[in-house]
Amino acid sequence: MSDSCIFCKIARGEIPSYKVYEDDVVLAFLDVNPSSRGHTLVVPKEHFDDMTKCPKDILDYCFEVAQLIAQAQIKELGATGANVLTNIGKSAGQSVRHFHIHVIPRYDNDGLKLAFPPKQLEDKEMLLIQDSISKGL
Ligand code: 5GP
Ligand code: ZN
Repeated sequence: MSDSCIFCKIARGEIPSYKVYEDDVVLAFLDVNPSSRGHTLVVPKEHFDDMTKCPKDILDYCFEVAQLIAQAQIKELGATGANVLTNIGKSAGQSVRHFHIHVIPRYDNDGLKLAFPPKQLEDKEMLLIQDSISKGL
């Protein structure tokens, strides 16, 4: 738990939120600035700065809950898909340093654009990258 962390405060009930699911380990609540109707955040109640810092059992459980949320969005809100993502670090757009998973329901022709502009890298560079990431595992 961190005194200044906004999601820790939400987990402790010190800041109100629109909760959709809660148990001893995980809380899921509506994003205050939703990208689509039903945009939900899944967070562990314990504080971890980001996904890379979260122990595997808790991480797995958070994704299990994220799956349930996406299923409920499709079943109950009429969503036709969802984007499930987590930002790691400032460079990736993480603004709240408490691990969270965005579950963003999608609707046909909703106009929402999550941009991943394509880049072309040379074969040599791709091989170097492949080697580096494999080595780091
Ligand atoms: P990030 O950019 O860190 O991946 O996402 C943080 C998300 O938390 C943002 O989408 C933002 O709208 C949401 N958020 C920030 N503060 C609050 C808050 O106090 N309550 C709720 N419900 N959502 C918040
Ligand atoms: Zn926190």
